[in-house]
Amino acid sequence: MNFREFSNSLPNEVSLLAVSKGQPISRIRALASQGQVDFGESRVQEALPKVEALKDFKDIRWHFIGTLQANKVRQVVKAFQVIHSIDTLKLAKRISRIAGEEIKKPIVLAQVKLREDPNKSGFTEKELLKIWDEFVELPNIQLAGLMTISPVKLDLSQRRMLFRECRVLADKLNLKDCSMGMSSDWEEAVEQGATWIRLGSLVFGNRDLVTQRYQ
Ligand SMILES: *Cc1c(COP(=O)(O)O)cnc(C)c1O
Repeated sequence: MNFREFSNSLPNEVSLLAVSKGQPISRIRALASQGQVDFGESRVQEALPKVEALKDFKDIRWHFIGTLQANKVRQVVKAFQVIHSIDTLKLAKRISRIAGEEIKKPIVLAQVKLREDPNKSGFTEKELLKIWDEFVELPNIQLAGLMTISPVKLDLSQRRMLFRECRVLADKLNLKDCSMGMSSDWEEAVEQGATWIRLGSLVFGNRDLVTQRYQ
């Protein structure tokens, strides 16, 4: 199955985010030429030159999916249309304030951590519910959904349960989007109600060894 066939085979409510971190501009260009519009990056320094180099593809939407440091918020707000990885209320407030200054209104998702995972950040369900009223009131962001990453140690049936919980929480909060599922578990995520699946190696092949070290 080629890329376009794969992309077309997904259910209508599921969008494919091509995770282009660690991939050269030429490969992104090749996928954009086949009609892919959504690309995900997780490091600001790596992403900005790519955004610049691909400006001629007017349709491309850039999604930020990595840990976002406070001092990078302005650059991200200017270059990215969607931010999947809001993990604190403080960060959400900062994004909203800076987006207002830049006359932007990014689509954002709250990253949730529904299982213990020392390597990942995100709100627990309890934390998210506690700050929810303040979060939804922020003026310059469009809060669209939740994002989650499965801990590596979970098997596929455990991941299925995790994705189910993420969908249930999103529904409870009246959010349309669930960004969940990567190359190894996207089928389980789709089955449980993902609206964004984030695929890197599956659509691009392996990441460059040089950049892989940073992920
Ligand atoms: C790298 C990354 C992906 C893609 O990973 P693959 O296993 O290559 O599909 C998805 N989401 C996040 C947050 C990532 O950092």
